[in-house]
Amino acid sequence: MKVAAEVMTFQRKHPFKIAREKACTANTSIKIAIEHDGVVGLGESKPSAYYCGETDKRVLAVVAQAEPLLGNDPFQLQDVIRRLWDAFPQSPAAVAGLDIALHDLVCKLMGVPLYKYFGLNPANTPRTSFTLGLDTIPVMLKKLEEAREYPILKIKVGAPGDVEILKAIRDNTDAVIRVDANTGWGVDEAIKRINKMAEYNIELVEQPIPPKNFEGLRKISRNTCVPIMADEDSVTSADLPALAGCVDSINIKLQKSRGLREAMRMIHVAKALGLKVMLGCMSECSIAITAAAHLSPLAEYADLDSNLLIRDDPYDGVKIRDGKLILPDRPGVGVVLRRTVG
Ligand code: MG
Repeated sequence: MKVAAEVMTFQRKHPFKIAREKACTANTSIKIAIEHDGVVGLGESKPSAYYCGETDKRVLAVVAQAEPLLGNDPFQLQDVIRRLWDAFPQSPAAVAGLDIALHDLVCKLMGVPLYKYFGLNPANTPRTSFTLGLDTIPVMLKKLEEAREYPILKIKVGAPGDVEILKAIRDNTDAVIRVDANTGWGVDEAIKRINKMAEYNIELVEQPIPPKNFEGLRKISRNTCVPIMADEDSVTSADLPALAGCVDSINIKLQKSRGLREAMRMIHVAKALGLKVMLGCMSECSIAITAAAHLSPLAEYADLDSNLLIRDDPYDGVKIRDGKLILPDRPGVGVVLRRTVG
């Protein structure tokens, strides 16, 4: 097998801000192509400095070293991906991009869409939320207008004024609202703020406090009436036993889990532990978003919207109808290049 990588740059429709980062107006991700017998599998890596300090540069370096580890039989996925996990433990997004490309390749060689490879029913996909990044109330209300077609909203909170922002949003919509604090609070502050936000009818709260404080999560769950979801705390299946009993659900992202293979294992471990599952995303385009969407028939929640937040997505893949994820029926992940205009 041969592998190549290319950096892609996207313009965001709006500057995007979460509690633990500065606002950004453009972002990059890396397209990975693995070729075997004239068939090309596509993947995407979106490294986050928050996880292992990973950068685009490190992803490119990993891809440059990966070819000898791929071997010549893409159907030995388990062995190939195990070799990648072992060789690059500090590069979850790089390995995720390679894992997605390998799954795309294998499914194309078999001529089946990814959901069929996993034995999943595309009618069972959930509805995705649409995310409104942190901003001033007037700007957030304008974003709300643009998000009218989405029945579920995710509001980024965890910064000063967040309760007021939430009130303003709730006063202007009947949509389901999820909030994500991205580690922005302390334990007692979280209890106070979540109980206040509960007045505005929120479905769940993602990662209220910094990771590895399991007793803190348990205390928040016991002292609020809103379900708590772990995100920054839920990276691979090894993290899940400690979260059982502390939170109601976990957020799985391919770029944290090192790809589809571990994401599937996380789903099964989560179910065994009584945890509900969200499939979430980083700032990827339609390649990685569509790959994650193929697993979504197994998830209670989806937050697969980063492709909707960029202006110039080069690929066409999963669609959305009344918020529901509609999977492509083409072999593999099923993304195709959009025709360039002009
Ligand atoms: Mg989150």
